[in-house]
Amino acid sequence: MNVNKKLVVGNWKMNGSLAGNAELLGSVGKAGVLGCEVVVCVPFPYLLQASQFLPSQTGVGIGAQNVSEFDDGAYTGEVSVRMLADLGCRYVIVGHSERRSLFHEDDRMVGRKAAAVLRAGLLPIVCVGETLAERSDGLTLEVVTRQLDAVAAEVDGLAAERVVLAYEPVWAIGSGLTASVAQVKEVHAAVRAWTLRAFGDDVATKVLYGGSVKPGNAVELFAVPNVDGGLIGGASLVASDFLAICRAAAGN
Ligand code: PEP
Repeated sequence: MNVNKKLVVGNWKMNGSLAGNAELLGSVGKAGVLGCEVVVCVPFPYLLQASQFLPSQTGVGIGAQNVSEFDDGAYTGEVSVRMLADLGCRYVIVGHSERRSLFHEDDRMVGRKAAAVLRAGLLPIVCVGETLAERSDGLTLEVVTRQLDAVAAEVDGLAAERVVLAYEPVWAIGSGLTASVAQVKEVHAAVRAWTLRAFGDDVATKVLYGGSVKPGNAVELFAVPNVDGGLIGGASLVASDFLAICRAAAGN
């Protein structure tokens, strides 16, 4: 990871087809030269296709959207980190709010998944964020800190410099609602303070913002202090939008 460049991560979620991906990956490949770091997290079945379309010369990293906390064995339907690495994957999103809410992943499981990713030498992108009800109740920083603490407890002693964090207010994901600059500023400052406490000041943890980032708001969001890039869902499926967001991150 280059600590001086912003990082833009596309999360395709459960979308794509072999034919459609070819076109999108062709455009994503062009983002590798724009001046920011770029990663695209595709569904498991398309990881090999992404690795073939985006060889390391493009500068675009490949990521998965989930992983098993276990290394191997009798876990029908699960995918291990070693398998992901085999397919050319370097990054793994863990703890996305859709996994927490729809698939019942709790804070400790997210921490164990992050630890499995680090043990295998890959980079976890750990998502944290509050629901609308938690924000309304004034619990945002408490919830985010609790989620981060659970990860720190599991990754203790592992390579903290490979952890990427993403603040994603649940109410802003896929909703078209974006957190305001003031809201992003407040939470990112708290997350930065947390990384300094947990990992020390010689570890430059990247903290991404995610939640309805679009070409029209990317410049403003990426200018907020302690925002080191973005985790992009819906807009990562539209080549022109994703490239525009990458250009905003690169300052072009
Ligand atoms: C996401 O899926 O992580 C996300 C931020 O989605 P969207 O950009 O569509 O809100």
